[in-house]
Amino acid sequence: MERDYRKWASRIIKGKVLFDAPMRQFTSIKVGGPAECLLFPKDMNELKKVIRFAGRKKIPCLILGRGTNLIVRDKGVRGWVINLTQGMKKISLNGEIIEAEAGLPLQQMVQFSIRKGLTGLEPFVGIPGTIGGGLAMNAGAWGAELKDVLLSMTCMKEGGEIVERPRSRLQFSYRGLVLPPSWIILKGRFLLKKGRREEILKKVSSYSDMRKRKQPLDYPSAGSIFKNPKEGPAGKWIEEAGLKGFRVGQAMVSPRHANFIVNLGKAKAEEVIHLMELIERKIYEEKGISLEREVRVVGEL
Ligand SMILES: Cc1cc2nc3c(=O)[nH]c(=O)nc-3n(C[C@H](O)[C@H](O)[C@H](O)COP(=O)(O)OP(=O)(O)OC[C@H]3O[C@@H](n4cnc5c(N)ncnc54)[C@H](O)[C@@H]3O)c2cc1C
Repeated sequence: MERDYRKWASRIIKGKVLFDAPMRQFTSIKVGGPAECLLFPKDMNELKKVIRFAGRKKIPCLILGRGTNLIVRDKGVRGWVINLTQGMKKISLNGEIIEAEAGLPLQQMVQFSIRKGLTGLEPFVGIPGTIGGGLAMNAGAWGAELKDVLLSMTCMKEGGEIVERPRSRLQFSYRGLVLPPSWIILKGRFLLKKGRREEILKKVSSYSDMRKRKQPLDYPSAGSIFKNPKEGPAGKWIEEAGLKGFRVGQAMVSPRHANFIVNLGKAKAEEVIHLMELIERKIYEEKGISLEREVRVVGEL
């Protein structure tokens, strides 16, 4: 069966297909074992072929953006990992509406909006994922969430059917979006406003400075590990529990921002996950708070 996955993948698409691709090379925290098969469809038609075929053959699929919110386990990922960053990254403007495909880096949309003199995306400067990952996670910062500027989203269903949903019909939450499990986000339409370029640039530079001051950007990480509970910022509780700088192997709670786990060089996913579990236990025992994970852990157990 394993062999067949491979044979089929390279027959179905012209886009790149990698076998046993080390996921540490495709995730920002740089941990994780191999993806059995990593496919880069070159356009919507190829994606449709992939999805239909995988559906018929019951091949498990995982959509990978830029891997900036993912911890892939050391045993890797079975089936097909599908990445849209090479073939689906168009962006266009219609009045004050930007349409951007799922594989485009969110930062390219932020820069595009600045060039066009549009305001609304400034708080998202520095969030390192794709449009697809940003929508799936309802990415946000400084009180803003991507859903706030979203007009509608287009998705592919299991059989390859394409549907567009207005924001009002989508169930976003804090760092989340409820979608049927097999749906793939293809693109979003975002409504912005005309703004003054100097003001936009001023905001961008202030958000960017705050990010550089607060986040440990000099080490690989997956961004914030936990969602902020209603009792206050997760980082505050972790810091109060004395865990800043705490290590499991090469995974460490960042001394700069306690809600970040950084990879000191050769961390394994196992060490990152162990450290996450240890934090969860300690915060529950000491503060009675159940931390909920923001990062997604995927791969074989
Ligand atoms: C240094 C750093 C700083 C960060 N700062 C922030 C921040 O300020 N705010 C914030 O919200 N996040 C932040 N993050 C986390 C991360 O960048 C966001 O969650 C981002 O939106 C994830 O996008 P991605 O493309 O990397 O998604 P991935 O990590 O590749 O995937 C995340 C999830 O989305 C799903 N997904 C991806 N694309 C699609 C698609 N097309 N269709 C359906 N599902 C899809 C994946 O299957 C997975 O479940 C930070 C991360 C880092 C490393």
